[in-house]
Amino acid sequence: MLPIPYGRQHITEADLQAVTETLLSDFLTQGPKVAEFEQKFAAYIGASYAVAVANGTAALHLCALALGVAPGQRVITTPITFAASANCVLYCGGEVHFADIDPATGLIDLAQVRALLEAHPRGYFQGLIPVDFAGLAVDLELARELADEFGLWLIEDSCHAPGGFFTDSQGREQRCGNGQFADLAIFSFHPVKHIATGEGGMITTNRADLYEKLLMLRTHGITKDPAKMHRNDGGWYMEMQQLGYNYRMPDMLTALGISQLQRADEGLARRRELAAQYDAAFAALPQVQALAGAPGHAYHLYVVQVADRKGLYDFLREKQVFAQVHYIPVHTMPYYQELGWQPGDFPRAEHYYAHCLSIPLFPSLTDEQQQYVIRCIREFVER
Ligand SMILES: *Cc1c(COP(=O)(O)O)cnc(C)c1O
Repeated sequence: MLPIPYGRQHITEADLQAVTETLLSDFLTQGPKVAEFEQKFAAYIGASYAVAVANGTAALHLCALALGVAPGQRVITTPITFAASANCVLYCGGEVHFADIDPATGLIDLAQVRALLEAHPRGYFQGLIPVDFAGLAVDLELARELADEFGLWLIEDSCHAPGGFFTDSQGREQRCGNGQFADLAIFSFHPVKHIATGEGGMITTNRADLYEKLLMLRTHGITKDPAKMHRNDGGWYMEMQQLGYNYRMPDMLTALGISQLQRADEGLARRRELAAQYDAAFAALPQVQALAGAPGHAYHLYVVQVADRKGLYDFLREKQVFAQVHYIPVHTMPYYQELGWQPGDFPRAEHYYAHCLSIPLFPSLTDEQQQYVIRCIREFVER
């Protein structure tokens, strides 16, 4: 039963078989499994197009490139995210700005985004990267209205939320990454994420123009499509038309992704069940404050806030429960401080960071393990 990590991948016999079959096939890198995974993932999310890439960070980088981020451009994101959500702008020479969070949800506060946009002339900012933090979907309908009003593009960082959704003003469920409101959305298949392939990522979109750009950028900026080439010297001929990268996801990992995708709904249902059990336990413990839930929450993380976070973290470690902190605010990282950001710039994010702890949540966590975690937390806050 012990130790208990905060997150863990779940690998089945079917997963092993899918990878072995691909290893023994003719293709290790760009084979038929890549297109199959892309097509099945797009269908799952409800987007028109999907592009499999090396990891979530590569996905963010390609999105920023496809949308034309360059020196002199400014992009807004949240300080409570993994650094890659902000770093992708810097990779392209752009400038990162932050808007503070809504303390009830941990998500970027769109009212703060509006205040930031209104404090500058129109055209000062080019893009917004909201994050479906912990698995709770950002209201992208509102974000789109803001983006249209101020002329911004939108990248939805959905790494935490495959299968999550929010309900729009018409009462329709809008799945994270479905491309209805955001120009592009990205996912990661890092081991703690819902679908775990080790390394791996996906970009989804409904925009054919961006889809074409992403395909080129993923593979060195090279095309082999005769319809797109300037000339054709023969069967071997291909053209490098722009500066791209090798950001491909290999066939054997996409085979693992396809196998895991088949269990995605099952895993999501278990995450929601565990979250509801935590909610019920902590409702009786006023010293433990959970982040707000919602019907479409995908529960990548279950975050609690307590007065003595370091105390609880250390206490749980002694009990062999390995909780984690998500996240250290990006603007307080030494690299970002060198860019001029300072402690105190985003007080809600910093207050949240001082108290937050992600406790174990993953589909194979047993009820018995969860009860143990709850007992440990209760023991700590009541002593
Ligand atoms: C995991 C994650 C990433 C980066 O994904 P990698 O596959 O690890 O590169 C980006 N953004 C968020 C919010 C993440 O959780």
